[in-house]
Amino acid sequence: MNDYDHKLFPTSNWVILPSVYLQLEKDSLTRYPQEACGILLGEATAASAVIDDYVPLNNTSSQPEQHFSLEPREWVKYCYHPRLLGLFHSHPTAPPYPSQTDLLQLPLFADLLKLYVIGSCEGKRPGANARPDFTMQGYYIIRDQRGLFALSKAELVQV
Ligand SMILES: [Zn+2]
Repeated sequence: MNDYDHKLFPTSNWVILPSVYLQLEKDSLTRYPQEACGILLGEATAASAVIDDYVPLNNTSSQPEQHFSLEPREWVKYCYHPRLLGLFHSHPTAPPYPSQTDLLQLPLFADLLKLYVIGSCEGKRPGANARPDFTMQGYYIIRDQRGLFALSKAELVQV
């Protein structure tokens, strides 16, 4: 992060409950090879934030293997929820880094969110059946020097 970057939400202590991590993993693997998506709820103060709930939303994209679109009526129900912290989606076959499309879509959500989380089913568990494995990366939503929204890696601690 450089001097120009403006973190929209200053918290540096992000915690995700292990039960929520397991929900994200399960939803991502259940919907594989399509992208899972949903919202992250919890409590945030200036000093810390705890993600304590996940609500899966339907992915209405016409190409759900490559993209996600939040089901509009479901999203509207939660977009001004007082406990809304972040947005989650999974990449079935790519690493948990924002795609070009993710960055293009970011302005649709960025003002409402504090955190952006991407899961990945790209890895394979060792062994003969080689099932997909789950990893995850969190991001702060920032504005870069041009005033555009961008993502900066955030560590999510499981407590
Ligand atoms: Zn993505």
